[in-house]
Amino acid sequence: MSDPALPEDTLVTASVLQRIKIVMVETSLAANLGAAARAMKTMGLAQLVAVSPREPLDNESAIARASGAQELLLNAVCCDSLDEALQGCSLVIGTSARSRNLPWPMLSPVELPPIVQGVPEPGEIAILFGRERSGLTNEELARCHYHLHIPSNPDYSSLNIAAAVQVVAYELRRQLVGGDLDNEPHPSVPLATAEDLEGYFDHLQRVLVDIGFADPNNLRQLMLKLRRFYMRAQPEPVELNILRGIISQTEKSLIRARSGQDRAPDRSQDSH
Ligand code: SAH
Repeated sequence: MSDPALPEDTLVTASVLQRIKIVMVETSLAANLGAAARAMKTMGLAQLVAVSPREPLDNESAIARASGAQELLLNAVCCDSLDEALQGCSLVIGTSARSRNLPWPMLSPVELPPIVQGVPEPGEIAILFGRERSGLTNEELARCHYHLHIPSNPDYSSLNIAAAVQVVAYELRRQLVGGDLDNEPHPSVPLATAEDLEGYFDHLQRVLVDIGFADPNNLRQLMLKLRRFYMRAQPEPVELNILRGIISQTEKSLIRARSGQDRAPDRSQDSH
């Protein structure tokens, strides 16, 4: 779906826009999804994902607010969980007006496009928008590599959600299509996907409890801090495999020790 009005060199960078998903989490008013669809279409974004929307997307007010972007709204993917929405995404950005007790790496809209441009194909990029009343939870933000904050009046910093989508989408288009960035994407390797990271965090949590490092009834802060550390490191798939290998081996050693057959691990199969 390329824009025929664009010169050919900008089409290359425009293609990255097609890999961006706008993920709206538990949006209360379908009208806001309609308005977000319009904001997206004006800037050339096409993938809208609604996680457990509270109203049907084809309601009258949503269609009215989408105006000419009805098709984008009605083609939105609806899913029941963030896991499903983030499948295949190797860069996840969480937008929020609020600062958090445990701060996450911060970005402003202007800083986003170069990072998006660095995601090698076919990696997808998800930009999360929270509930109208309460935004994103800390756990949802902890699924993100960055917390994007739109600079605003500190005394009244919460934009309407579709306005927030518009600001972010505008900045992506301005830099990725407008030719502000050098057209040579910086060479980068693919990052681990959201589902691989979740698999790792589940496994890590299990093992930390199992070896007695973490209290199963008091895991929240520890896991948030560990997640922040790993998300900041932006592991590649190979690195994540090594980390998983380490915790798998820890689990095996523990099982062996418990069954009284402790011995040195067999390294003959090791490939790293
Ligand atoms: N009271 C909520 C605000 C929700 S506004 C809160 O405290 O988080 C709905 C959504 O719009 C937010 O979850 C976020 O995705 C987006 N948004 C609104 N203002 C924003 C800002 N200044 N920076 C980044 N995102 C913003």
